[in-house]
Amino acid sequence: MGAPRTHEVARGTLPAMSTSQPTLAVLVDELTRALGKSSVLARPEELIAYEYDATIERARPDIVVFPASTDDVATVLRLARKHGVPVVPRGSGTGLAGGAVPVQGGVLCVLTRMNRILEIDVRNRTATIEPGVINLQLQEAVATHGLTYAPDPSSQRVCTIGGNVATNAGGPHTLVHGSTVNHVLGMRVVLPDGRATFLGSRVPDAPGLDLRGLFVGSEGTLGIATEIVVRLVPRAEAVRTLLAIFASIEDASNAVTRVIASGVIPVALEMLDREIIRAVQHSRDVGYPEDAGAVLLVEVEGLRETVEQQSAQVIEALRAAGALDLRIASEAAERERLWEGRKSAIGAIGALAPNFYLLDGVVPRTRLPEVMRGVEELSARYGFRCGNVFHAGDGNLHPNVMFDSMEPGATERVLALGAEILRLCIEAGGAITGEHGVGLEKRSYMEWMFGADDLEAMSRIRLAFDEAGLFNPCKVLPSGHGCASAHSAELTHHLATPGVYV
Ligand SMILES: Cc1cc2nc3c(=O)[nH]c(=O)nc-3n(C[C@H](O)[C@H](O)[C@H](O)COP(=O)(O)OP(=O)(O)OC[C@H]3O[C@@H](n4cnc5c(N)ncnc54)[C@H](O)[C@@H]3O)c2cc1C
Repeated sequence: MGAPRTHEVARGTLPAMSTSQPTLAVLVDELTRALGKSSVLARPEELIAYEYDATIERARPDIVVFPASTDDVATVLRLARKHGVPVVPRGSGTGLAGGAVPVQGGVLCVLTRMNRILEIDVRNRTATIEPGVINLQLQEAVATHGLTYAPDPSSQRVCTIGGNVATNAGGPHTLVHGSTVNHVLGMRVVLPDGRATFLGSRVPDAPGLDLRGLFVGSEGTLGIATEIVVRLVPRAEAVRTLLAIFASIEDASNAVTRVIASGVIPVALEMLDREIIRAVQHSRDVGYPEDAGAVLLVEVEGLRETVEQQSAQVIEALRAAGALDLRIASEAAERERLWEGRKSAIGAIGALAPNFYLLDGVVPRTRLPEVMRGVEELSARYGFRCGNVFHAGDGNLHPNVMFDSMEPGATERVLALGAEILRLCIEAGGAITGEHGVGLEKRSYMEWMFGADDLEAMSRIRLAFDEAGLFNPCKVLPSGHGCASAHSAELTHHLATPGVYV
């Protein structure tokens, strides 16, 4: 503590809340007594690592805590509330919307030490876990029982299930299985005032208002999930993975519609364009063709006989859509290699440019060809290279705009390009986020999609959970809807520093 606190945001004016140093010192003392010394950080050199998530936005917390139980979380929230200090939940910090960035300082509540798998109920096909369990860790644990947890964000080696619940995470395999909300039965939640409750149930279709559904995807604005009951599904008997090679991203986009129209919904239908293929191949050879305009990674799963038949249908559709070549993975190692390329694609972009800005929008998949053309034209107009890797089957695009933040004005131009791309998505009948959420980054764009009455209704729901307006402030809803203006103080603007912005 003691260093001047900076609230660094990439754009817009956010009210920065200033908690007095004596108040913070008392709070640190109380938190340390309640949680133990090793669970509370407050020195600037310790806090600096918690300034950001995987976006472009940054703001330093005043205190970081690592609770180990629901009771600890409740204590943190009660103490912070007593002193009028904001609290922001955080999992692994892989979020791509700035949701875990503490724009008004305060306490950052990091859930990664609550990482126990409490129960795997094989017969009822459920698992009960703490929020800090890593997605892949859960997948591996249930795989030994012949089961799987379907949502598999590409960040699954790092991201937490708590973060997945808060963002309603999707992933390559949510095309057929649905996003996180379809796989969460219930959860223990500590409300912003420190009371604990259980939303949902251990069995499907709980009576009453679906507060579970409301909480999933609320981006850490309604409370902190401390125990989560998830649904598991049996692992498929057979899987067929194939790579379809196309001359252009437009041809590959058209193929997406053709495949779905063939009557088969693959479990995954992912697209990588030329820039990304080259970036991946540059970092490791996974067998992607570097001269292709785009590739589609397609996976079909189910009973052995069904998979045979569905693969044949998919192959026919891909050929009819102009696939130049098809590579079918005949064994597990080959399949893993193809997926390794997809899952490491975002990291591989780091080798192409000093910085990149990863966007997330969604459009009806039939509009993909024209929207991808639009993305290409806009990027060229702004003078940036752009690589695309995305969940094409869901129409969920992820343009990665490459730039150098040291170049004067580049960050502002990248943000302006991002805004234009999201506008394009809305005009095509889509939305400003497909899976990463709104967070801090896109909250001002909410007005493009919702009228004042809609935003007011959302704001009232939020107030019902957080009367004091101190819980993860300035997220999701635009200014005036959930950013306690009473706390307005001066804001230190500081645009992006060097680094890779994902
Ligand atoms: C390389 C890469 C690939 C990615 N691929 C995908 C993808 O395929 N699909 C996808 O959906 N996302 C993807 N993401 C985005 C990100 O990984 C997800 O949003 C993920 O769910 C965030 O989890 P986290 O633990 O890192 O959460 P954080 O980033 O720490 O937090 C995210 C949000 O959740 C809130 N939160 C965290 N824990 C809790 C809790 N216990 N209770 C209440 N609120 C909480 C935070 O306040 C914040 O608003 C990717 C990110 C990267 C960097």
